[in-house]
Amino acid sequence: MAENQTPLPENTWKCSNCGNTVVTVRPPDTCPVCKQKCEFLNVTCYQPGCGFTGMDNRLKPAK
Ligand SMILES: [Zn+2]
Repeated sequence: MAENQTPLPENTWKCSNCGNTVVTVRPPDTCPVCKQKCEFLNVTCYQPGCGFTGMDNRLKPAK
C-alpha cells in the first residue's frame, strides 16, 4: 500500500440548481438529487470566519 501520497482534500460542492451539497474531491457530472447536469459551486471554507462549518456563508442564499 502506498501511503506516502497525500490525498486530495475533499471539498464541499453545492448544486446551483437544487442546492444539494456533495462532499467529495471533485464535483459530480450529474447531481445525484436533481439528476441535472448542474454547475457545482465550491462552497468549502477553511477560514475561521466561517465558524468551521465547512461552508462559506457568503455563498449561502440570503433569506
Ligand atoms: Zn441538483
